[in-house]
Amino acid sequence: MTAATTQADALRPLLGRTALVTGGSRGIGAAISRELSDAGAQIAVNFHTNHEAAALVLADLRQGSSPWPADVADADAVEAMVAAVLERYGSLDVLVINAGIWRGGAVDRLAPEDWSLVVDTSLTGAYHLVRAALPAMKRKGFGRVIVLSSVVGLVGHPGDSAYAAAKAGLLGFVKAVAKETGRDGITVNAIAPGFVETEMTAEVPERGRERMMARTPLRRPGTPEEIASAARFLACDASYVTGHTLVVDGGYSL
Ligand code: NAP
Repeated sequence: MTAATTQADALRPLLGRTALVTGGSRGIGAAISRELSDAGAQIAVNFHTNHEAAALVLADLRQGSSPWPADVADADAVEAMVAAVLERYGSLDVLVINAGIWRGGAVDRLAPEDWSLVVDTSLTGAYHLVRAALPAMKRKGFGRVIVLSSVVGLVGHPGDSAYAAAKAGLLGFVKAVAKETGRDGITVNAIAPGFVETEMTAEVPERGRERMMARTPLRRPGTPEEIASAARFLACDASYVTGHTLVVDGGYSL
């Protein structure tokens, strides 16, 4: 091996690893797919229904990366997807639980089906994914689980009761699972982004956006790439960090 090859490999700490990124086709998930691919991993890009967006991101990813349509709220679909990913790649080293959906409104006007959609996708979806992926990670004695929470789960936000409940629930989930799996060489951490420019936030009215920015010390929204670099840190460098919530919010929650 030449010195040049060794240097190139050092820049790709995930070479030979497989990462499953849920909601990996758009917004923050797409940026994470690109970042982990750049770090050397083959990416299984999960999404729900938008095949075109998945095809676009896959064109940027390392050869061997592949699309996996499945609803993360559906336990059977998640189990089948994880089994198929394991069959194709032989291992699942990094699990990024990113798929999420937002539905809002004052709590006394929030429809029960909207509550269920948000909680089933974000919180229960995380349970389905971890449950399906853990046996293979335990067998290998290695795993990196990264969960996308939100500052809304830390400090709340009016009109976001279901979203806040799901995102706060994820923080407790991360701590419990970190305590259960540390002995197996698995780390489990959360990222809590502030306001990030994606399709999810595109419909936030200008006044709401201005209020958020006025409360944000850095006075600007985050980019998907800034969240993705936090995910890369947790996947590649943070070998002695578990049960942690990395807040990436421009200071919004201070
Ligand atoms: P986004 O642009 O709306 O993208 C959502 C992604 O999730 C898409 O790939 C979508 O797939 C997928 N998805 C949605 N429901 C799914 C389901 N049931 N099963 C599988 N995939 C599903 O969202 P984003 O803004 O990038 O947010 C990504 C994560 O970060 C979410 O968990 C969100 O709550 C969190 N977050 C976002 C912000 C922000 O300001 N944007 C702030 C804090 C936290 P399709 O394209 O097929 O629908």
